[in-house]
Amino acid sequence: MELTLTLEKMPAWLNDEGQATYILKADQDFIQLQRLLGQQITIEFVNEKYCANCGNRFEQLYRMGFCQNCFFTSPQAGESIIRPELSRAHEGIEDRDLEFEKSYQLQPHLVYLANSGDIKVGVTRMGQRPTRWIDQGASEAIVFAETENRYQAGQIEVAMKSHLGDKTPWQRMLKNEIPEINLLEEKQNLKSKLEGDLAQFYSSDDQLWKIDYPVLEYPTKVKSINLDKEPQIEAVLKGIRGQYLIFEGGRVLNVRANTGYRVKLSFA
Ligand SMILES: [Zn+2]
Repeated sequence: MELTLTLEKMPAWLNDEGQATYILKADQDFIQLQRLLGQQITIEFVNEKYCANCGNRFEQLYRMGFCQNCFFTSPQAGESIIRPELSRAHEGIEDRDLEFEKSYQLQPHLVYLANSGDIKVGVTRMGQRPTRWIDQGASEAIVFAETENRYQAGQIEVAMKSHLGDKTPWQRMLKNEIPEINLLEEKQNLKSKLEGDLAQFYSSDDQLWKIDYPVLEYPTKVKSINLDKEPQIEAVLKGIRGQYLIFEGGRVLNVRANTGYRVKLSFA
């Protein structure tokens, strides 16, 4: 079977057994990735790239799958998207498009703690639970604070960053080298760091989310595939974690990082 698709973030959710489930959206169809585990698949980059925002074709995309113009002008790539603490919609101040920014920023957000190879802090919209954690390949996550808007969540994240990292150690995550961390204990210890107006947002939701991934065998070494240099991958799919496809021999493809790349996917 052969499908053509433009790569983008793989939609993911948690099934009843607590395992992440992924699909790849192709032009005419979608494929449940779990069913390709253990199979030889071929991904061929056809040397076309399309901006995820304007849809036009470019020789090079700039960042986040956007062309340079969209990256610097679209509200979807505004400052507060990457740095929530720079949100200004609650003050009625526009960055790029106030209407968009209001609808995006003025909704409940979460600050969470996750373990994806090390403990980290992050911010996401309420509705993104647990998708956001799956995207990062986290083994466990817990809600730390619940806020009314993105700005407040950003303030908390900044305050926590002096105590915790905010990056996912992707190689450790893909090798499943996950240290034992008691996230509830960490959450309780960090409570006292929430000072002043921020203290009210501490969450009483202590549910520990555990996420399992469809991986047949974790690699001991990982090597990232660069589609510009190596446009064809033909290998057995060993697993899916975070936004990565894991192939035999520890070669990994970050699907989300290749947003906008046009590929042909074939399998038996
Ligand atoms: Zn564009």
